[in-house]
Amino acid sequence: MSTESQIAVHWREEEYYQPPAAFIGQANAADPALLEQFREENFPDCFRAYADLLTWDTYWHTTLDTSDPPFWKWFAGGRLNACFNCVDRHLAANRDKAAFIWVPEPEDEPTRPLTYQELYAQVNEVAALLHDVGVQAGDRVTLHLPMVPELPVCMLACARLGIVHSQVFGGFSGTACGDRIADSGSRILITMDGYHRAGKISDHKTKADEAVEAAAKLGQQVDKVLVWRRYPDRYLSDSTMVEGRDIFVDDLLPRYRGHRVEPRSMPAEAPLFLMYSSGTTGRPKGCQHSTGGYLAYVAGTSKYYQDIHPTDTYWCAADIGWITGHSYIVYGPLALGATSVLYEGVPTYPDAGRCWRIAERLGVNIFHTAPTTIRMLRKLGPDEPARYAYHFKHMTTVGEPIEPEVWRWYHDVVGKGEAVVVDTWWMTETGGFLGATLPALQPMKPGSCGPGVLGIYPVIYDDEGNTVDPGSGRAGNVCIRNPWPGVLQTIWGQPDRFKQLYYGRYCRDEKSTDWHDWPFLCGDGAVQAADGYLRILGRIDDVINVAGHRLGTKELESAALTVPEVAEAAAVPVVDELRGRVVEMYVALNPGEEPSEEIENKVTHAIDQQIGKIARPHAVWIVPDMPKTRSGKIMRRVIAAVSNFADVGDVTTLANPEIVEDIRHHVQSSK
Ligand code: ATP
Ligand code: MG
Repeated sequence: MSTESQIAVHWREEEYYQPPAAFIGQANAADPALLEQFREENFPDCFRAYADLLTWDTYWHTTLDTSDPPFWKWFAGGRLNACFNCVDRHLAANRDKAAFIWVPEPEDEPTRPLTYQELYAQVNEVAALLHDVGVQAGDRVTLHLPMVPELPVCMLACARLGIVHSQVFGGFSGTACGDRIADSGSRILITMDGYHRAGKISDHKTKADEAVEAAAKLGQQVDKVLVWRRYPDRYLSDSTMVEGRDIFVDDLLPRYRGHRVEPRSMPAEAPLFLMYSSGTTGRPKGCQHSTGGYLAYVAGTSKYYQDIHPTDTYWCAADIGWITGHSYIVYGPLALGATSVLYEGVPTYPDAGRCWRIAERLGVNIFHTAPTTIRMLRKLGPDEPARYAYHFKHMTTVGEPIEPEVWRWYHDVVGKGEAVVVDTWWMTETGGFLGATLPALQPMKPGSCGPGVLGIYPVIYDDEGNTVDPGSGRAGNVCIRNPWPGVLQTIWGQPDRFKQLYYGRYCRDEKSTDWHDWPFLCGDGAVQAADGYLRILGRIDDVINVAGHRLGTKELESAALTVPEVAEAAAVPVVDELRGRVVEMYVALNPGEEPSEEIENKVTHAIDQQIGKIARPHAVWIVPDMPKTRSGKIMRRVIAAVSNFADVGDVTTLANPEIVEDIRHHVQSSK
């Protein structure tokens, strides 16, 4: 990379926001000594503080075993059971406390609390059933479940037996599920007949039939499909049950009433689950997470960064089908014995007030969601939050960089100026947060996630492996210099790809067993300010190089979003004979706005003003919607392909594939 190519464009440095005094007074992490405790000279033993939040059957002898890099082993020699830690150990003090509060989509269907005692009973029954079906510790079981309590019940039942669960996001097609079944080698699929989503009932069992067929084509036979019924007295699917293969779980469960299954004591490094990444940049990877390290990491980060107390009502409005849900709906909050809300449906149905109604009714005081949801709610119901009497002390955002403009709406309108906002940057591979602010100890800065979290030491490298200094204003590839307990153990079945993808680029010495030689490549481009705060620019592949300048897609999109008519924006590179690459902007408008040349000009002007003429878009396209992954992330790669008249490639992970044709027609006919 030439020196010139490292010059990042200048943007407005955002101001700090301080946490409200009332928050600081009650925070779990209020003593700056915590930051000292996690300084690099105390690594790796600093993470004992996280492991000590758990109950171990056998205490570990080695905090971090680096003998087979980069297959790090945390808390080696230790044994524990994840289900015991999330359920059994809370019974003595909190038997009648809600572990989950489930909010079904139909608003006239009652909200259902599930106490720790009830959860314990159900998990044991399902574990007994799984045992009888013949699954054993180490086997993989694929779950393809919607947002119903049966999902965490199944996850915990697997964990109780040492079975590796692999939950596939419920919105995925049968084929996508079949791919993941085959990749993980599961012989058992657990599914549900149907579920509610945005006013419709989705026939989900049909997808299981497709999944089994797709897996068979890839050489993986599924022996049993366990089918839950969404309503015990009705079957919601059009599909018939296959004799000998399909079983209604609720027909069998009465046989197991009152059964108890001993939690199996597992080595700390035994795999707990597989989670396939979103597939934003290509074929999804089966990220394998450990039992001891992972659970310790999500418990610790839930305590300090989510600030969960026993008395809080905590709601992470993500889907359990993504890593966010595994870590911060199920494992983290339950390891702490908290009450975690889970809801069926979407945030905008029946209207843009749904989240705020739920928050008001349940007394939610910690709220967690993604920028895509925040943008959508801002677009559809900008004044809705004020109509509801809820009070958040803490709000999280995760999944994409949040534009300062959107951040401020979240803070001022959703948080009513009363809540801290914690922007958590991390990925499926990392198990838990990498970059965020400790909410009572570090101020917030819109658009920046914050510094590395406790025990995470980030660094930015240029393409040659030179360190890019904080405060230099230059962008580069963000890496984590050290291993941490939540990091993935491997990509399931592909250890070489694992090594290559995350460590291949910057490993200094393949033979070295010193972790300093193995920086972890996160895959994102970032700039680090002088205060150590990271501003994530998007994935490395999304950073656009125009005439030697590296432009972060997020910077361009943030500028476009300052135009009041614009609801969403995506910046993509287009091949240009003269300049190599130019930028094209795609924008979707707020409801009621009509496309016009004036809006296009406003977008161009905003980018000129806020970033500079070098970044001026070659074209601005107003489109009805953006192609998005099922997790709500904008698929820039697909838009870029359309813009470049190229093949759009694999779009199986798109939530709205039909929009691709619309955009193609609109753009290619005008070029
Ligand atoms: P794949 O790896 O399959 O292409 P993916 O990277 O979208 O898919 P995830 O693990 O769900 O899959 O997403 C992680 C990515 O999301 C990060 O690499 C980063 O680009 C983005 N991200 C997550 N949280 C934030 C955040 N708070 N700020 C900025 N970007 C974020
Ligand atoms: Mg990724």
